[in-house]
Amino acid sequence: MNIKAPKGTKDILPADSYKWQFIEDNFSKMAREFGYGEIRTPMFENTALFKRSVGETSDIVQKEMYTFNDMGKRSLTLKPEGTSPAVRAFSCSTDVRAIKPHKYYYDIPCFRYENTQEGRYREFHQFGVEIFGSDSMLSDAEVIALADSFLRKMGIDDLELRINSVGCKECRPVYRKALQDYLMPNFYKLSDDSKKRFETNPMRILDSKEECDKELVENAPTILDYLCDDCRKAFTDIKLLLDEMNIAYIVDSGIVRGLDYYTKTAFEFISKRLGSQGTVCGGGRYDHLVKEIGGQDLTGVGFGMGKERLLMLMSENGHNFGGIYKPDYFVAFVSDEARLYAINLVNALRNSGKSAIIDVCERKLKSQMKLADKVDAKYSIIIGEDEINSNKLTIKDMTTGNQIKVDRNELLRV
Ligand code: ATP
Ligand code: MG
Repeated sequence: MNIKAPKGTKDILPADSYKWQFIEDNFSKMAREFGYGEIRTPMFENTALFKRSVGETSDIVQKEMYTFNDMGKRSLTLKPEGTSPAVRAFSCSTDVRAIKPHKYYYDIPCFRYENTQEGRYREFHQFGVEIFGSDSMLSDAEVIALADSFLRKMGIDDLELRINSVGCKECRPVYRKALQDYLMPNFYKLSDDSKKRFETNPMRILDSKEECDKELVENAPTILDYLCDDCRKAFTDIKLLLDEMNIAYIVDSGIVRGLDYYTKTAFEFISKRLGSQGTVCGGGRYDHLVKEIGGQDLTGVGFGMGKERLLMLMSENGHNFGGIYKPDYFVAFVSDEARLYAINLVNALRNSGKSAIIDVCERKLKSQMKLADKVDAKYSIIIGEDEINSNKLTIKDMTTGNQIKVDRNELLRV
């Protein structure tokens, strides 16, 4: 039987994994430089967590979760996103020395039962950051600036940053009502999904990818005209802070995000090159989620960034990702006796902090040298009778072809 990988998943082999390592190393380094510490949470959580946080009416909870019962009849769900597990872990932690604000980053796989297409998978991967415990727009500005700096560092400077405010418990209900009143006369023209959202979560209609919905919401009232004083001030402030950092943005009241927990700031970094999979990074503020899940009354703000979509853009740009790892030395051998000398030398090189490769297939010298080329070794050393007797090794620079003779002990010392 020919067993394939499950639909919507991808294997990542060495020909590609170095690209993943490149973005992962750069992201974690930059997050640490911005003052964030890594948080690692379980692959699965109690299903109730996502129902409560992401929201019963969200697409994720309604149709995208990988939910199963374990042998103990607990309902568990593979995590579809990173924020609620991070909030849950933070709330469960008993580290009394932790300082406010609490700044975390994560690098996780996510699972959603989606219609798969290019840029949309059932297992995908995200970087993200969260700040818990700051009400100031400085924290919203900081997470946006981190995403912006990282995307630039990855050579991507043609994304649009779209920002919006989704209001709060005070002003959002007033807007929802205005939006429902506006859409009501054309209710019958809405897509089936949007008809369902009309009562439960009408703002999600603004985010619909269906053409019929897009037309209907084109001239809909904007939430920005309905913000309360507090939300309006916050929105003015975040724009001021972004201006100050020269981060360009477009105000777009259609950015509502697919998860229910957002309040005030919502934003997305969008690429025109990826069609309806254009959102590379999305995030915002969530003033009540920590309290709802964990009891502490702390506000939060953060983002999630899709690694697959980021890599698609970087590959299109011809980014070089630093290349596959190049070993320092390739050690070849011509006889049985040389074979023992060679494995001894390779082991000694490795233990002295250098990287070295030997042909573990034990092929003829010519094929060993072909392998040296393929693995792109910087230097090669051929072990024969002379080398064994004299302990003097000829080191060949594989780029220039230059050769020098070096004493074995000398080689291991430098
Ligand atoms: P979309 O509108 O494209 O469905 P989303 O709003 O559901 O995205 P978020 O929940 O905000 O996405 O997740 C953050 C990021 O994770 C997205 O901006 C995207 O880059 C990535 N992402 C989300 N779903 C998928 C998926 N199924 N496959 C690959 N990447 C994804
Ligand atoms: Mg989605």
